[in-house]
Amino acid sequence: MVLILQDEIKTQQYRQHTTVFLTVETLKLLFPDANSRNVKYRLSALQLLDVYDLLPFDNPDGGAWKQGFEIGYRGDEWDEQPLELFLVPHSHNDPGWLKTFDGYYQDQTRHILDNMLQKLKWAEINFSKWWNDIDDQKRATPGGAGQLELVTGGWVMADEANSHYFALLDQLMEGHQWLHRHLGVTPSSGWAIDPFGHSPSMTYLLKGAGLQNMVIQRVHYAVKKHFARQQTLEFLWRQTWGETEKNNNHDITCHMMPFYSYDVPHTCGPNPAVCCQFDFHRLPGRRVFCPWRVPPQPITDQNVQERALLLLDQYRQKSQLFRSPVLLVPLGDDFRFVETSEWDVQFTNYQKLFDYFEQHPELHIKVRHRRGGAWGRA
Ligand SMILES: [Zn+2]
Repeated sequence: MVLILQDEIKTQQYRQHTTVFLTVETLKLLFPDANSRNVKYRLSALQLLDVYDLLPFDNPDGGAWKQGFEIGYRGDEWDEQPLELFLVPHSHNDPGWLKTFDGYYQDQTRHILDNMLQKLKWAEINFSKWWNDIDDQKRATPGGAGQLELVTGGWVMADEANSHYFALLDQLMEGHQWLHRHLGVTPSSGWAIDPFGHSPSMTYLLKGAGLQNMVIQRVHYAVKKHFARQQTLEFLWRQTWGETEKNNNHDITCHMMPFYSYDVPHTCGPNPAVCCQFDFHRLPGRRVFCPWRVPPQPITDQNVQERALLLLDQYRQKSQLFRSPVLLVPLGDDFRFVETSEWDVQFTNYQKLFDYFEQHPELHIKVRHRRGGAWGRA
């Protein structure tokens, strides 16, 4: 069978008909003259196209968060309800990008999965090749321990701009059938961090395939900034016909990542120069480094307080963009966790930071993780 699929063709499709669900407070800001009846109507369906008309699409320098704005907080926001950190280690593998599917599998993917001792997001079905290669004893490990979550579950993290819906559906069906047959698993969350633009067709298919939640990333910075200001980066994505239905069966919970990328510099908080210091794969002497020229430091008893507070400041700033007390912080990049030493260097350093948080309840931050190796479970 030939699958007509292309991962991440760079296209612009921002002016698509997309419906998002926003809150009354946001709508009042957007439409100050609307009477309550209008607001109620608007509440049930807001076209993203309407938002485009509001945006100047200028590009002012936002400071540390170049395409955003300065984020402030008082410091007592978490006194009543602590900030809950949900850290998600992930590795983004591009099947068939610069190497062939098999080439990536041999050089990187199988090593990543072999080394999988901690929870890891896995979105592409090159997992199935590895599954066929390993023995039963290994098979019992990651799923049994609940350390691996299979997200989306298609053949690839599909391009959503150019692909025909038939191809999107076909690759999703094949992936889900494989998962059901071999693992008895149906994914509940979507993970689309690298497709260039997002499509309501894909959203519709994901919901139809049983998914309840989805994460998206590559959205125009002006839209991200606008949603961040309104704290609407988490919303129910509704199909255009959803407003006329009695119950909105097609709604799906969507989290839009706020910053420029899905790498560590752009996921801990708004300042990439700071967040990069918490990507311990970039410690001096390793293969990658921080382009902001401030390298990470290994966490020690001497620096743990200063480092933990620096990181907490980024987490707190990022949390100001959301209404939820739970903060999603992805920790990964392209082809990460290939070598065992990378697992170790990330885990041991983060463990020291998180131990510090735990020993200091006055900081009001709880990290969702389990002792003995796995971080995060939602
Ligand atoms: Zn990619």
